[in-house]
Amino acid sequence: MKTVVCPGSFDPITKGHLDIIERAAHLFDHVIVVVLQNPNKTATFRVEERLDFIRRTTDGLENVSVDSYDGLLVDYVQKVGAVAVVKGLRAVTDFEYEFQMSLVNRQLCPAVDTIFLNTAQEYLYLSSSMVRQIASFGGDISQFVPQAILADIQKRLQKGN
Ligand code: ADP
Repeated sequence: MKTVVCPGSFDPITKGHLDIIERAAHLFDHVIVVVLQNPNKTATFRVEERLDFIRRTTDGLENVSVDSYDGLLVDYVQKVGAVAVVKGLRAVTDFEYEFQMSLVNRQLCPAVDTIFLNTAQEYLYLSSSMVRQIASFGGDISQFVPQAILADIQKRLQKGN
């Protein structure tokens, strides 16, 4: 059984993330979506909220599970016995950072490979920060965020809580 890990901040999960998760779920036996605590980013949503959004969004995908981890990605990958990390690539700007991360991870643990899936064209410019910004000004985020969590995200960001 081949398990892969899809890591990220998912603050919150977008349709761009979901597309990568669905495609990974077609390619591999088991996909674990893991919310990592990124010390370089100040999160808007609490980890529990982000996990809840991901669970509700991936509800129909039988081979997808959700987890969180406060530590090194390579340690998590080994802990769960995954064969690789799956990441989505948008523009060249993603590539620079992701390329560096994948090389560092291989340096730390040579057994951990990273697989990149290209973004779907319609999600090329989509990011969690863009969703947060549009929603905070009361804009329509329905084309960017999965339907199951749309109302909760709108409510939460408009209130500014
Ligand atoms: P963000 O960069 O939006 O804060 P994350 O840190 O949660 O996203 O990223 C998790 C993974 O999802 C990364 O590999 C990132 O490149 C990928 N990803 C994010 N948005 C998209 C998108 N619109 N299309 C494809 N992949 C994406």
